[in-house]
Amino acid sequence: MPLKIIICGGGIGGLSAAGFLRAKHQVTVLERGTLDFTVDDYGMSIVSNAFNLLQKAGIKPENLDMVVMTHVWTRTPNNEELKTVHFDTRARFGGAPSVLVKRAKLQSELMRFATSSEFPGAPAEIIQNAKVAKVDTAAGKVWTEDGKLFEGDLIIGADGIHSVVRAAILGDQDISASIKTYDTLAFMTQLSIEDLRSDPNFAYLSNPTAEAGLANAHASSGPQVNKHILVYTTSPHSLQVVGYTSEKEFSEQFDSAKKAIIKDVPTARVVEEFAPEFGEAFVNLFRHDKIDAWRIRDVIALDTWYSGKALLIGDAAHAVTPLAGQGSNMTIEDAEALGYLLRDVDSSEGIPDVLQRFMALRKDRVDFVRRRSHEIGGIRAEGDEDREPITSEEFARKIYTYQGAEKALSGQKHPGMG
Ligand SMILES: Cc1cc2nc3c(=O)[nH]c(=O)nc-3n(C[C@H](O)[C@H](O)[C@H](O)COP(=O)(O)OP(=O)(O)OC[C@H]3O[C@@H](n4cnc5c(N)ncnc54)[C@H](O)[C@@H]3O)c2cc1C
Repeated sequence: MPLKIIICGGGIGGLSAAGFLRAKHQVTVLERGTLDFTVDDYGMSIVSNAFNLLQKAGIKPENLDMVVMTHVWTRTPNNEELKTVHFDTRARFGGAPSVLVKRAKLQSELMRFATSSEFPGAPAEIIQNAKVAKVDTAAGKVWTEDGKLFEGDLIIGADGIHSVVRAAILGDQDISASIKTYDTLAFMTQLSIEDLRSDPNFAYLSNPTAEAGLANAHASSGPQVNKHILVYTTSPHSLQVVGYTSEKEFSEQFDSAKKAIIKDVPTARVVEEFAPEFGEAFVNLFRHDKIDAWRIRDVIALDTWYSGKALLIGDAAHAVTPLAGQGSNMTIEDAEALGYLLRDVDSSEGIPDVLQRFMALRKDRVDFVRRRSHEIGGIRAEGDEDREPITSEEFARKIYTYQGAEKALSGQKHPGMG
């Protein structure tokens, strides 16, 4: 008998889990919003560890309008070359590329994975405009805001950082207690490749069909200065510019608006922020309107991700700061692992054991990413102290070589691992 599974949230985690679980089970996804895949939203890195799992499941790269990452260019604040790393995971890790893609494009393809008849199993039912308001973890019941009741053998909380399912699992309605901020924000804007084509400073970034990747520069001219600019291709036509710095006066705005995004920050304010430490080449990238400020947050390491018939995945369980570019990757890994662990479970009696095994399999890996992400951002968090910093080689070896839950459980190493 297939299990009846209710997934709360139709984001990266909810749709990937629906894709991996529908092969064997009956899946319903409750998404609070309307899924619009035509928006031109932010870009993200889907690295070999997660891309590999999606590709094996049948995701089509040609549907993603993506670019394959081949380089990481480390520059000085004046855009002089410091180090160029050939970051092509196809060569290093047995064929799996790392890609840069717009979030909506990825989500659209995940929707196909969850609902198209081209994939095994019955298509998942995706119910939009269904905001989960209440969850009874012991009974496996979920109520949406409009009073509808959904019952399942398993309830999956894929409802992001402000998860209602997490509140139910932790028995704490004050969900903000598990979310941490670090006096860090990211100013973010999008550019077209055309905008950069005439700028000789960034010739290395403006031909994404030949080379694509990420340029980054740090400025740390004193203990108070920890600023960091990233520029990366997000499709064959577009780039994203991200500048990390202190929240300063924006903290109050974030707090009072109870939002993690402040839209349309004045260009002059952003230029003023980076001009003292960075040269014109980088600062000019922010001389555009439509710059948003994103508050950098994560979810603290939780003692549990499950209770009764409910389990958390993705950002609901373990949102990480974005500096290591692994939030979605960990979420997709979660979804694949859950699909694997539940593949032969045909009655609700088998579920408690799976929930416990899932967390045992995933927790250390996610904690490792959280720590590395803090280190990259110069973030000092409780629990990170007195530990040797994670090197980029160690991170690559442990994270980018991942081959899925089955191999992780059997302890087998991929032949490409160093
Ligand atoms: C600016 C930025 C850049 C990033 N870059 C990268 C990157 O380069 N690489 C990377 O791997 N990760 C990146 N991430 C992180 C990544 O976006 C998240 O880790 C990922 O989206 C987590 O997926 P999720 O499904 O758990 O949560 P989400 O994608 O947030 O999805 C949650 C879904 O649940 C829905 N929902 C919420 N509450 C309810 C409710 N009550 N009822 C029903 N539905 C609900 C929401 O509408 C949403 O659709 C970045 C994040 C940001 C903000």
